[in-house]
Amino acid sequence: MTDQFVNGNTVKQANRSFILKDIRQSGPITKIDLARKFDLTFSAVGNIITEFSEAGLIKEAGYGESSGGRPPVLYEMKWDSVYVIALVIGVREISACLVNLKGEVSDEIIAEEDSKPLIERVYNLIDQLLERIAIDISKISGIGVSAPGPIDTTDGKMLTPPNLEGVRNISFQRLLEDRYKWPTILEKDANAFALAEQWFGDVEPNEDILYIYNDQGLGGGLIIDSRIHRGIGNGAGEIGHMVIDIDGPKCNCGNFGCLETLSSGIAIQRRVKEEIRRGYPTSLADDYLNNGKEPTIENIVQQAEEGDKLALEVLHEAERYLGLGLANAINLFAPDQVIFGGMVAKLYPKMINTAEKIAKERALSPYARNIIFAESAFNHQSNSIGAASVIHQKLFDYPEGTII
Ligand SMILES: [Zn+2]
Repeated sequence: MTDQFVNGNTVKQANRSFILKDIRQSGPITKIDLARKFDLTFSAVGNIITEFSEAGLIKEAGYGESSGGRPPVLYEMKWDSVYVIALVIGVREISACLVNLKGEVSDEIIAEEDSKPLIERVYNLIDQLLERIAIDISKISGIGVSAPGPIDTTDGKMLTPPNLEGVRNISFQRLLEDRYKWPTILEKDANAFALAEQWFGDVEPNEDILYIYNDQGLGGGLIIDSRIHRGIGNGAGEIGHMVIDIDGPKCNCGNFGCLETLSSGIAIQRRVKEEIRRGYPTSLADDYLNNGKEPTIENIVQQAEEGDKLALEVLHEAERYLGLGLANAINLFAPDQVIFGGMVAKLYPKMINTAEKIAKERALSPYARNIIFAESAFNHQSNSIGAASVIHQKLFDYPEGTII
């Protein structure tokens, strides 16, 4: 226990949080093991266990080994006792779903394309979700929202995301709380996805993460000591706007040669189009020049797999730049894991291998070779799980008043 918990209530709040997190992480577990782990009395643990049991958050799960007398009762989470509405605002689509305490996604729906303002599309989507779900609505404990940055987390406002036209200073958190009456947290997409890896992925609690969200744009999220590292004004983690080439292409942020202009989905598409216009022979040219169809990342990756020279060259270029950007990031931050999500990483996982090789060669510390490079643990569901994780973290940090 740290000194900052000075009064009894606050210590009890902290103990509740430690115990609930541990049951989640290590359960099934007995009261006596919890008491030993956190240096608490058996009766203090007993009181907290009773609170969680009465709130329906945990349940008995058989018996542990006896040390002479009656075998002790084991306790584990009731994973379906609490649900979070996860709302994902992406550059290409908006989706909503439910996520339980285990990170399992259900009832996912995607907003239909229309020209209504963003907030109205979001209201429609959540209303539709609430109409169709079968669970008892009292099990919903909050709305977690992930959205492209920049975001003002002090009042949960989407500012002016460069890759999402027409969005200007929307107070998402307040608007959703006013309408639905559940606690709502808005988080920058890459931060939320990074947190999902920490809560539900293959990451130990003490490991630091650099999350790379390589999609249309290129975002980053940092988890240090199990928390999102925000920096002043929530500005940390913006690896996509690290300048790699001062003579490089103009970025949506106003600078030149940012990593996003060299390694993201948009960058890969732009490079293919440039080379087609210059007359580079490629199987991607016909659709673009004669049918006006933009080459998609799916097309480009598919053509690369079939040996198209331009597609291969552009992807290699993007992965080399990504490796250089990661070498810089490792020199600054030296995380335990670098985890990749987003459409480009998913469609073209080879990019991770090359970027890893380059980053490890270029980073200064010999220990950089120990850094784990991995794909997101959640495939296409990482966004929903990420949006939900911001509420999960709050529930487990402050169970009182939220779920008990
Ligand atoms: Zn930029």
